[in-house]
Amino acid sequence: MRYCSECAGAVSLQSLEYDSRKRYRCNTCSRVHYLNPKIVVGCVAYFEDRVLLCRRALEPDRGLWALPAGFIEEGESLEEAAAREAEEEAGLKLDLQRLELYSLLSLPDINQVWMTFRIELPREPTLRAGPESLEVALLREGDLKVNDWAFSVHLGNRPVVLFEQIRTKRFSVHTWSVGGKKTAV
Ligand SMILES: [Zn+2]
Repeated sequence: MRYCSECAGAVSLQSLEYDSRKRYRCNTCSRVHYLNPKIVVGCVAYFEDRVLLCRRALEPDRGLWALPAGFIEEGESLEEAAAREAEEEAGLKLDLQRLELYSLLSLPDINQVWMTFRIELPREPTLRAGPESLEVALLREGDLKVNDWAFSVHLGNRPVVLFEQIRTKRFSVHTWSVGGKKTAV
């Protein structure tokens, strides 16, 4: 960060008396600018043994398959963000009331937190690839190889766990982290 978003003055890293970390503070208006992780919200939407996946049209991992997901926007709830991404990327309208928490992933090295909901679709949906997707589809576990998944470094063995849970309909909320001081995948 170089300039203040309030007054466009120069900012510098400064020690604040009440804070253990140095913070960017504006040299002109004294506003303190905190840099905090961004939240990515995604959704596991499944019908029978198939999961909605989007083949990414954008980097990173263009051409690989991912759950519909994206950054939460200002003024949105987590559920609204998940539903918006599913609609934008795959043309799928979700019932917000039926979203259940599926997983929480901390990625301290890139300052992101990923949270994922799950929802069982009541019927086979009609899908439409949005501008961020090359194609969208409901896929079975055997339809993808390990290398076909986007963000595989974050996923670890999660696709196996995901399809296992969908098969058995026994879900528990996963929390894990990749990178940072402690890596537990
Ligand atoms: Zn300023």
